[in-house]
Formats: sequence, structure tokens, C-alpha cells
Amino acid sequence: MSTFQAPKGTYDLIPPESAKYLAVREAIAAPLRNSGYGYIETPGFENVELFARGVGESTDIVTKEMYAFETKGGDQLALRPEGTASVLRAALEANLHKLGNLPVKLWYSGSYYRYERPQKGRYRHFSQVGAEAIGAEDPALDAELIILADQAYRSLGLRNFRILLNSLGDKECRPVYREALQNFLRGLDLDEETLRRADINPLRVLDDKRPDVQKQLTDAPLLRDYLCDACKAYHEEVRELITAAGVSFEDDPKLVRGLDYYTRTTFEFVHDGLGSQSAVGGGGRYDGLSEMIGGPALPSVGWALGVDRTVLALEAEGVELELPASTSVFAVPLGDEARRVLFTKVTELRKLGIAADFSYGSKGLKGAMKSANRSGARYTIVAGERDLAEGVVQLKDMESGDQRAVGVNEIVAELESKLG
Ligand code: AMP
Repeated sequence: MSTFQAPKGTYDLIPPESAKYLAVREAIAAPLRNSGYGYIETPGFENVELFARGVGESTDIVTKEMYAFETKGGDQLALRPEGTASVLRAALEANLHKLGNLPVKLWYSGSYYRYERPQKGRYRHFSQVGAEAIGAEDPALDAELIILADQAYRSLGLRNFRILLNSLGDKECRPVYREALQNFLRGLDLDEETLRRADINPLRVLDDKRPDVQKQLTDAPLLRDYLCDACKAYHEEVRELITAAGVSFEDDPKLVRGLDYYTRTTFEFVHDGLGSQSAVGGGGRYDGLSEMIGGPALPSVGWALGVDRTVLALEAEGVELELPASTSVFAVPLGDEARRVLFTKVTELRKLGIAADFSYGSKGLKGAMKSANRSGARYTIVAGERDLAEGVVQLKDMESGDQRAVGVNEIVAELESKLG
């Protein structure tokens, strides 16, 4: 071990487990690629004001959990705690919304950073795959995103997840509800910090996980009862479209989200095998965010699914992903001449798209065969001086243990027909 370790709240992805992370990212991205979403990549850091907008309801993510710093040049930057604000910023900067093709549909995949108290499923560095549909107010778009996330999880083999759905209202009905909720919260027996939160972002108090707080919230007013007619109709349409797609969900009138910009449709994917960090993904509509960051009115909707927690959820359900073998053919040369010949064969196999690896270093036959076993290769080719003198290599089937001689000039074609 070196003197260094991964920083607190972080961990490394290491083979073979790391292959699961790639497979999860791929599985989440596939339905998006198939539905008109284009890939976008933004920097890992942004100007801090993009996230700390200083207006309206503040959140823990922004006030406590952000990695903010000043550069040598005096710029105030922050490691990105989430994807939505960055993607919207980039779309506006590139004028994607002016190309006359709304909604702008984008997907992304990357690392996010939050200075949180680490525990299982909650890290300071984690990864998400996300999707945003910018510039359209259409319940079918909200439904599309929920259906695609459901499809992604199902394609991985996940079953024990639930979709929680709520509406947070809009700038008409939300303020009325906010005040009613505040009045209710002020009458409760809450600690100082929670009361302060009730002042700044009362909806977040509904999300408090502590049992003594939850008990007092039983009779809290619900946004559901305050929705204006337009919000009610919109929400009903989203519910109908998801239901028609055969995706089941639960209405959760107390569901709120960690970020302040959500309006109307709000949802979370929770997995019951994950303990306290049960949210594997979440999202919703954010009709006011564009204006908050200086853009035009662009009603939008999106989600982000956590890759780390999705992997934990797969493990909790005992789902084994069908990962392609990383190596199909392993070459074991005995002697210098064989090294040159087999190295050429490995290169040819790779060009044909066959995953091949080679015994490097000066291992003896025994050590090299151990490497071949560990590689998981289906076939091993072994060659020594005597084989080459006869114009052959030995082809070993690692499953049956059978071994036979194949002509040096035939071996690539032979493996291609077996594996191709
Ligand atoms: P959020 O923007 O907080 O709703 O995050 C969306 C998803 O990202 C969550 O449902 C989690 O799966 C994942 N996530 C958020 N924060 C963390 C974290 N600190 N560690 C691991 N995953 C996280």
C-alpha cells in the first residue's frame, strides 16, 4: 500500500466490479439514445453562482454541501453538485433553444461532488447519468422521462424499486401552499435548525427523516389540496400517460426534492433494499430555472439516476449482470520465436474485434497458464519451439480442457469461426 488513500467519502472503481458501473451507465443511456436525446458533456466545475443563486428557497446542497473554492486568478468556482444547472447553462450558451426545435433533449454522464457525511450509498464523489428535456411544457414529456428511467432499471433486471410521484405546483399555487405550511410548522415543537429551514424552504421539512418530526407532520397541509386547476389537469395527464404505458407508481403527496427549482411533476425512484439512502434516482419539472440563471422562460423537465446506488441496488437484489467476457483468447508463448509469432496473432485477433490477451513478462508455462485461467478466456493458444517447427500452435478449450494442434496460418480463422 502507498502512503496515500482515496479521500474520505470516495472510493475507486476497480476491475472486475468496475465493469458493472460501465454496464449500468450504458443501460441507462440506451433508452435515451433511442428516444432523441443527444449527448452533452460540461465541465466538472462551474462559476459558483450557477448553483448558489442566492434567490428564493435555499437548499442544503447549495448552502452546506458544495465544494466551492477560489482559483489563483480569483474566480469563485464550485465542483458541480448536480447536472441540471450545468446542462441548462450550456444549452443557453450554445443557443440550442433558438434553433427552432424544442424541446432540446440532452443526456449526460459524469462525476458529481457533494460535501456530505459519508455512509453506505452516500459519497462525496459519485456518478450520475441524467437527461433533460428543455423548452416544452407537455405532460407527455414528463411521462416519457419516467417511462425511460423505468425501462432502464428493468433492462438491468431491477425489480424491487418503486416510483414515487407528486406535483409541487407552480408559481401561482405553490406560494399559497408554502405560507399555509409555514404557519403549520411554526406551531410545532421543532429544533432551531429545523425552524430556520421552515422559514427558508418549508417544503424540505416534509422530507425530514426523523421519526419525531414525521410524527408531528401527520396533519400537515398537503400541496395536493392547494394545486391550481392548470397544475391539477397537468398532473392528471402525466399520471394517465404513465399508467397507459404500464408503469406503476405511487402517489406520494409529501415528496419534495433537494433542489429548489422544481415545479409541478416531481418523482423519485426508491429501492427497498438500500436502507436509509434509498433513492436511486429522481427528477422533475423545473419551469423557472432558466429565468433564475438569466435565460428566457424555458419550461423543462429532467432526471438524474445515481450509478453508485443502482449498482448497490443490483447487489441487494442479487442481480448478476451478463457482462461480456473481457478476454476470449489468451496467448501463451514459450520462447522468443513463439513470442513474436503469437504476439502477431493476438494483434490480428484484436483487429477482428476478438478480445485477446498475451502472457507478458518471462513467466514459465505454469505461471502463464494461471494467468490464462484468471483472464476468463474461453481459449488459450500455446506454442513452443517444437510446435512452430511443425507449423502449428496448440489450441486449448478452457471449458472442456481439450487441446489440439492447429496450423499457425489457420489459427486466427479457426478462432474467428468459433467466437465470431
Ligand atoms: P439528487 O439530485 O440529489 O436527487 O440525486 C439524484 C441521484 O443521485 C440520487 O437518487 C442518488 O442515486 C444519487 N446521489 C445523490 N447524492 C449522492 C451521494 N452523495 N452519493 C451517492 N449517490 C448520490
